[in-house]
Amino acid sequence: MSFDQLNLSPPLLQAINELGYTQPTPVQEQAIPVVLAGKDILAGAQTGTGKTAGFALPILELLYRQPLPKKPRPIRALILTPTRELASQVHESFTLYGKHLPIFADVIFGGVSINMQIKRLHRGTDILVATPGRLLDLMQQKKVDISQVQYFVLDEADRMLDMGFIRDIRKVIAALSKQRQNLLFSATYSQEIKTLSAQILNNPVDVAVAKQNSTADKITQSIYPIKQENKRELLSWLIGNGNWQQVLVFVRTKHGADRLCKQLMKDGIRCAALHGNKSQNARNRALRDFKDNSITALVATDIAARGLDIDQLPHVVNFDLPQVAEDYVHRIGRTGRAGAEGEAISLVTPEEGHLLGAIENLLKKQLPRVADTGYEAVELHLKKPPKVKPSTHNNKPSNKRRRPRSNKQNVKTANRQIQKRTPK
Ligand code: AMP
Repeated sequence: MSFDQLNLSPPLLQAINELGYTQPTPVQEQAIPVVLAGKDILAGAQTGTGKTAGFALPILELLYRQPLPKKPRPIRALILTPTRELASQVHESFTLYGKHLPIFADVIFGGVSINMQIKRLHRGTDILVATPGRLLDLMQQKKVDISQVQYFVLDEADRMLDMGFIRDIRKVIAALSKQRQNLLFSATYSQEIKTLSAQILNNPVDVAVAKQNSTADKITQSIYPIKQENKRELLSWLIGNGNWQQVLVFVRTKHGADRLCKQLMKDGIRCAALHGNKSQNARNRALRDFKDNSITALVATDIAARGLDIDQLPHVVNFDLPQVAEDYVHRIGRTGRAGAEGEAISLVTPEEGHLLGAIENLLKKQLPRVADTGYEAVELHLKKPPKVKPSTHNNKPSNKRRRPRSNKQNVKTANRQIQKRTPK
């Protein structure tokens, strides 16, 4: 199929052509006609499949087909995204695809001055891309009116729920007009997503291009069983030995990201950390430096797991495995985007074995282990060790043997007893 067959207007086709897109991706092929036909969709598209254009192109087309509203333009399309990075990328996509159209897109998110956003909103915009927190803030201050929204997109809905945005989402929906078209995109389908879609969507058309909870086929995945203390050295070796130019490294904590980044720098690897404690400016700078290859490694917490669109990112490393198995899919989805090849390596300690077990359960396949990591071999147990139950106090005599006191303790107790007994 070609873009010409999708009933898009010439200015949109021109922009697509200038971007070098030759044919629609499967999610675009399926979603664009459905959105143009005015139907709600529930799209299970994995990251990197071109899903942004899957909703941005038909929304731009539908807005373009309407008469131009008077100024200030009312917001006619609202896109909610979980992270600031994703919001700014989605906004960028709308701007690129709509560059030959008389349609405007704006973006608002937290962490930056609200006053500038208020000023811009005052001028009016056709499309607004927003993160839930800042949008609600502006709604409460009555600086933004979303009552005329006709097209509502929940992007990466599963991530929104993971991040605890459900109440914010409900408040936003309550302020929308009932007469609207809804598009919900989610990389994974949990029960919560199904419940949410049942509440928001009207007779949605299912657009499922990827298998549920699957990873892109073009990503080579491997597991390095290793002890925690050897992880950093192995990572530096992988980067140096493989002559990697660009690697996104995921860690569990913000502090862990800063620490690993410092250690990598000591190993001579240009590096930046990206996490929620960094200012928006620092986050933008880190991302820019990573995208233009000024640094080799970007060490990030899961904030970066979604939405980052880095052209041809070749390597993703899970320095720590994610606590939630679905996050594995999102993390490694940063590579192998739009059909390119990618490599995802996970460094796994015995303590993380159960997290790997959960990931393999989700993916319904075993990931290949690297037999010789160059370090002491460790065994991974995929089941969580059973929790030791606290002893219950009942009258039954315990058949557990008491731990014998150490000799030191015996001496201490004996001394105390002697002191007690000795009259003053
Ligand atoms: P997304 O999944 O929306 O984040 O898109 C992933 C990447 O695919 C982005 O860099 C897009 O610019 C690119 N892309 C989207 N649609 C196409 C297409 N039809 N042909 C080639 N690249 C595309």
